[in-house]
Amino acid sequence: MKQCRVCATPLSQPSYAAPAPAMTSLSTLIDIPSDVFVCLQCGHIQSPNLPDVQAFYDNEYRISLQSDEHDQLYETRKGKPVFRTDHQAQIVLELDLPQNAKILDFGAAKATTLKKVFDQRSDLIPYVFDVSEDYRSHWASWVDEDNQATYQLPHAWHGKFDVITAHFVIEHVEEPVQILKELAQCLSPEGKLFFSVPDPLGNSGDLLVADHLNHFTEVSLQKAIALSGLKVERINQSDFRGAHCVIATRSNGVGVEPDNLTIQKTVSEANEKLGWWKNVLSNLKDYPNAAIYGAGFYGTLIASRLSGLPICFIDRNPHLQGKKHLNRPVIIPEDCPSNIETIYAGLNPDHAPQILNKEQEWVRPHTDIIYLT
Ligand SMILES: [Zn+2]
Repeated sequence: MKQCRVCATPLSQPSYAAPAPAMTSLSTLIDIPSDVFVCLQCGHIQSPNLPDVQAFYDNEYRISLQSDEHDQLYETRKGKPVFRTDHQAQIVLELDLPQNAKILDFGAAKATTLKKVFDQRSDLIPYVFDVSEDYRSHWASWVDEDNQATYQLPHAWHGKFDVITAHFVIEHVEEPVQILKELAQCLSPEGKLFFSVPDPLGNSGDLLVADHLNHFTEVSLQKAIALSGLKVERINQSDFRGAHCVIATRSNGVGVEPDNLTIQKTVSEANEKLGWWKNVLSNLKDYPNAAIYGAGFYGTLIASRLSGLPICFIDRNPHLQGKKHLNRPVIIPEDCPSNIETIYAGLNPDHAPQILNKEQEWVRPHTDIIYLT
């Protein structure tokens, strides 16, 4: 890795390095080592290009096409699952979109979020873009064929859109500034770009996700936006837990640069979190009769660092029930076998004790809970 993906400053040594396997955002494992670099100049955090990025998105990423219902659980509200696309649609609906707005979902995949928005705002004119042909059948029934594009943004789309959304896309791209520039070009003069990317300092597991080539900090986002001919209207970490949600408009040359002191603080915090992960993962021990709570990212991360696999994964996501993960069954908490003596909390370490603890009825008194700490 030669230079920062945002500010092009040459990079030196990685702040974190671990042997294969590496984690992906789909909670699968790939046979490459993990290296994470922190840019001292702009506070951007990044991972190397995947060895075969095309093969990854063609093969691995099709997983979410296997089922129309496959979707990540965002949270449970009053006992009911709220999926990521439900929550994203809610955020977009709150953007105060003008009547008959032209809205492009960039990196749309199945465009589930835009479809949910469109179901409530049928006046909108939907457009979709992705770097794959695989999703055409999901778009066909409700997006005009002329409003669909793949691989390259059409010239005819320059200056066109009132709103462009990109939900968890920019973290995957090799050249984020180039992509943001292209999106800026496609905005109408008053148009808004809304995008979300993981917040690796708020949810530090993201630092270890190999297909997230970019781990944006607030300062590196500001820098990337300023370099792309855009200006920030809003960045927050509250609309979507564990993520930055950004609204930007065309800057006409008046972008705002982040201040140096904040960049230096960000660099220290990034190095501290990477050091913490190195320490925690090297201290993980194997226990007999163990289960992992969480068949998502953190659960898989724990499994990847143990010598043996757990008896089962325990997870509340109804879409995972009855399935296997890493060749082990995924079960609901109430079905936890009585011989389980140890449960690893495969959850975001910041929230794990609230989600999994001994006060829950299904956790037996003799069971030990191991937190990432
Ligand atoms: Zn940089």
